Amino acid sequence: MGERGSGCSWIWRLALILQLVGGIHSWGQEGHYATCKIAEEYLSEDAKAAVKELLPNSSHEDFASLCSWADEIRFHYHWSGALHYVDTPDFTCNYDYCRDCHDLHGHRDACVTGAIFNYTKQLEDTFQDSPMITTFNKTEALLFLLHFIGDVHQPLHVAFTGDEGGNTIIVHWYRRKANLHHVWDSMIIETALKAFYGNDLLFMIESINRNITNVWTNDLSDWKDCKSNQTVCPDPYASESIRLACKYAYKNATPGSTLHDEYFLSRLPIVEKRLAQGGVRLAATLNRIFSSRKKLAQA
Ligand SMILES: [Zn+2]
Repeated sequence: MGERGSGCSWIWRLALILQLVGGIHSWGQEGHYATCKIAEEYLSEDAKAAVKELLPNSSHEDFASLCSWADEIRFHYHWSGALHYVDTPDFTCNYDYCRDCHDLHGHRDACVTGAIFNYTKQLEDTFQDSPMITTFNKTEALLFLLHFIGDVHQPLHVAFTGDEGGNTIIVHWYRRKANLHHVWDSMIIETALKAFYGNDLLFMIESINRNITNVWTNDLSDWKDCKSNQTVCPDPYASESIRLACKYAYKNATPGSTLHDEYFLSRLPIVEKRLAQGGVRLAATLNRIFSSRKKLAQA
């Protein structure tokens, strides 16, 4: 998929992109930053070392700042656009990999869950020093994985085909006109930052981290778990997302409606829990990929 550059040209491109977008909060950046910052808390020493080795110095060791990279290069890597989401048939509130994971032209596996499987496999193969090591760009594989595990947890990234995951549903978010997808990508988080967290994203992340240790403690092992000893399991995450899309995102958000406090206050806990689950599961996945015990066992 797509042409892979050498490590050096990659870093040059990243520097250029950071220069172009410097200071601007691109859409959804806060959500991706939060997911990766939460993940950081749960990374094993092996995974931390592997991530540090794979990411360029320009991240200043704050790998969360690179978690929106996959959105920033979307226009450069046209083929990657379909990998950010998966659509279900209209009004179908369940997800099925075989039925749903394809792009607009019907290419199989070209969707967010397919991409998560693919990039996990690439990282595993390269980590285990298989011959694949020369074929793939490990840094890009990691950057895509960091981003897509976040995306699959946003309910409207697993939503109906006809309205493009809420992109064509125009509503008012308080007084501002917006599409429903954008409300869930950014506006719920931005409104919460202003209303409750003094516009400080780190403060919001701290509060989510506190909920993980105080409120969701008993759910943690379930969140981290992957059935049948798999390294990664995005299918249940996608199933959760479409269920939440039907139950909360689409509900009472018909075209032309005005969404305000009632919608905001009842949906914010869903958004915060999805950021928490995304972060914990991203870390658990990276811990499995970069487990040195596994590497030794297979040596
Ligand atoms: Zn995305």
